[in-house]
Amino acid sequence: MKCPYCGMHFSDNWIVQEIARVHRTGWFYRTALCPECTQMTIELCPPLRSDIMNQLDQLSVGEQHTTIQRLGQWRQVLPVGSNRGPVPPEVPKAIAADYVEACRVLPTSAKASAALSRRCLQTMLHNQGYKDRDLAKEIEQLLNAGVLPITSKKQSMQSVTSATSRHIQSTTRQRFRSLTLTRKRLNGVWKS
Ligand SMILES: [Zn+2]
Repeated sequence: MKCPYCGMHFSDNWIVQEIARVHRTGWFYRTALCPECTQMTIELCPPLRSDIMNQLDQLSVGEQHTTIQRLGQWRQVLPVGSNRGPVPPEVPKAIAADYVEACRVLPTSAKASAALSRRCLQTMLHNQGYKDRDLAKEIEQLLNAGVLPITSKKQSMQSVTSATSRHIQSTTRQRFRSLTLTRKRLNGVWKS
């Protein structure tokens, strides 16, 4: 699995427990510890179908946990938010902040996450000089510029966002190298 804190990959070491108090609830939680950063990840699993739960009773505890791990609809509850990995240091702080916030609110509000993602993308486009009446027009400008490896304008917004992000990061790195700016000066360039 990939650690949602530091992004390192490590062998699954989930420990599964059922949430119970006097009575069984059918809810399970599992924890994993990252050997790299030692942070704990916690996931919750709502009850499985009643027929599956009944079958689980016929199994040993170990077999139950293996089955639940495989069939459960696990939801990450700690750390809060979506796991998208760390933001590269060359990404401007304002854009990184919007991106991180969009990831954080995704599990609880897809609309809020989409609004932040939209602003994130629009800021990147504006910083690269693509400005128009609305975001769709700005994306159109970018696609027409022919700087992205996109063959069809019908590709999803996710593809555009991903490709745009890579393009912006690449451009930023090139700027950094060619102008040998300090990070402080680079931030100034992006803010202007
Ligand atoms: Zn970690």
